[in-house]
Amino acid sequence: MAEITPIRLAELTTLRTGGAPERMVEAHTRDELVEALRFVWATGDEWLVLGGGSNLFVGDDPVEGTVIRVLTRGIERLPSPHEGRTRLRVQAGHGWDDLVAHAVSEGLAGLEAMSGIPGTVGAAPVQNIGAYGQEIVRTLVEVDLIDESTGEVSTVPAADLGLGFRTSVLKAHYGSVPERSAVILSATFDLAEVGTDARPVAGVQLRTALGLAEEGTATLAEIRERILEIRGSKGMVLDADDPDTWSAGSFFQNAVVPAAIARSLPPECPRWPVEPDLDPVLVIPLAVFDGHVPTPETREPDVKVSAAWLIEQAGLRKGFRLTPSRAGLSTKHALALTNRGGATAAEIAQLARFIRARVHAEFGLLLQPEPVLVNIEL
Ligand SMILES: Cc1cc2nc3c(=O)[nH]c(=O)nc-3n(C[C@H](O)[C@H](O)[C@H](O)COP(=O)(O)OP(=O)(O)OC[C@H]3O[C@@H](n4cnc5c(N)ncnc54)[C@H](O)[C@@H]3O)c2cc1C
Repeated sequence: MAEITPIRLAELTTLRTGGAPERMVEAHTRDELVEALRFVWATGDEWLVLGGGSNLFVGDDPVEGTVIRVLTRGIERLPSPHEGRTRLRVQAGHGWDDLVAHAVSEGLAGLEAMSGIPGTVGAAPVQNIGAYGQEIVRTLVEVDLIDESTGEVSTVPAADLGLGFRTSVLKAHYGSVPERSAVILSATFDLAEVGTDARPVAGVQLRTALGLAEEGTATLAEIRERILEIRGSKGMVLDADDPDTWSAGSFFQNAVVPAAIARSLPPECPRWPVEPDLDPVLVIPLAVFDGHVPTPETREPDVKVSAAWLIEQAGLRKGFRLTPSRAGLSTKHALALTNRGGATAAEIAQLARFIRARVHAEFGLLLQPEPVLVNIEL
C-alpha cells in the first residue's frame, strides 16, 4: 500500500470534475488492496475506491476521507465445469477492454459486444455493464470481495450481487441506497470456446448493430472491430483529443416503465421489452393441497424506453449547451453529458437538472442518472 500526494479527481475521472481527497492510496496488488481497505475501515473515515473513473460524477469540493486507486492487474485461465467453456479470473484493476481483447484473441465468446467500454473489471459488476444486448450478468460466475462490515474476503456467486439493469447491490447513487458495502478484488467469467471461425451471431440488438440478417455470421474479431467503429462514431470510446468523449458515457438510464405508460408515448419512441423476472415457484404443502392449483398471476412485462429519444424530443438536440456553460450534450450522442473543457461539476449538474426538468415536463418521466454521484446532488 502506497500513500501518494492526493490528485484532484478531475484528473482521474472521464467527466473531468472532482476535488482532491484528503488522502490517496494506490494498491498495485491484491494484498495491498486488502491491507489498504482494512486500514481505512479501521479509522472509520470516509472512503471511495476508484477504478478508471468512467462512471463517476464528482463535485468539485475537497473529498472527505481516502480515495483508494485500484491498480491490480492480471488474467488467470481456469477450467470450467461446463464442456466447451473456459473461465477467466481477472484482478479488479485490470482494464475492461483489455480483458475483452484478450478473450477475443483466445477465441472465447461472451464479452465481445462490450468492446470499448472504459473502466476496470472490478467496477463492471457494480452496474452490470452492458452494450448491444450483452451484459456481464450472462457470463459473470462469481467475485472475490472484501466486506466492510467484517473485513473478511469471500467468494460470492454472481446471483447474490443483485445484478439488474445498470445496477447491483454494490451501486450507490443519487436516488438509490447501497445495500452492501464491499470491494471487488477479482471477477470470474465463464466463456464459450468458439475459436476464430465465423459463427451465427446471437441477439437481435447485436445483429442489428452489425447490419447482419438473422442467419448472418461473424468472427469474434469482426464483431469487436465493428463495435469499436460504431462506438467511436458515437463518442463512446475514450479519446483524449475529443471532448465528445469527456463524459461518463450515458448520463441517464433508459427509462423502465409499465407497459401502459409506454403505450401513452408516441409510437416512434424506441422501446424494448424488459424480460420479466421468473415467477417464484409455488409450493403447496401436501397436507393442505386440495387438488386445485391456482392460476398464476400474469402481468405485462415492463418496457425500456430510449432516454436519448426522450431528451431529443424534449427539444434538446446533440451539442445542446446552456451558454455560457462549458458543459454540453455530446455532438454525437444525446445521452452523453460532456465537459467541453474546464467545466465545473456545478455546470454539469445544471445541465443535467435542466434536461431532467424538460423531459419531465414533456413526458412525465423522471430520468435517473447512471453514474455514481459523489459530493454532488441533482
Ligand atoms: C465514453 C464512455 C462510454 C461508456 N459506455 C458504457 C457502456 O456502453 N455500457 C456501460 O454499462 N457503461 C458504460 N460506461 C460507463 C463505465 O465505463 C462503466 O460503468 C465502467 O464499468 C466503470 O468502470 P470504472 O473502473 O471507470 O469505475 P469508476 O468510475 O472508477 O467507479 C464506478 C463505481 O464503482 C465503484 N468501484 C470501482 N472499482 C470497484 C471495485 N473494485 N469494487 C467495488 N466497487 C468499485 C466506485 O467506487 C464507483 O462507485 C461508459 C463510460 C464512458 C466514459
